[in-house]
Amino acid sequence: MIKKLKSEINVCSICNTEMPAEITHCPNCKADLIKGYIDTSARQRRRWSIIFLLFVCSLSFYYLYPTSPQPRLLIIIFAIALVLSIALPYIYFKAKNKDKVIWKRKRL
Ligand SMILES: [Zn+2]
Repeated sequence: MIKKLKSEINVCSICNTEMPAEITHCPNCKADLIKGYIDTSARQRRRWSIIFLLFVCSLSFYYLYPTSPQPRLLIIIFAIALVLSIALPYIYFKAKNKDKVIWKRKRL
């Protein structure tokens, strides 16, 4: 008999039930294995990076706008920069935490 490697088994951290790695839903306590979990401290860092980027964008817009030869273009660039300020931290932390897993029971 071939023993399964530890990495081929998922163990539910809530009820300690073992199951094959391809199953991400605990049959015992109905918890789900969530991949790419972002914990509270990472969420906080993500929020502060967004605030920082938005602040930098606004500040540069504030200083560039009065002297800009093409104010309309600057507004478009500013709008794109605002979207990126929010999207980039999300993408970054998602990529950084993609291997992080957590067991969570669905809220009823
Ligand atoms: Zn379980």
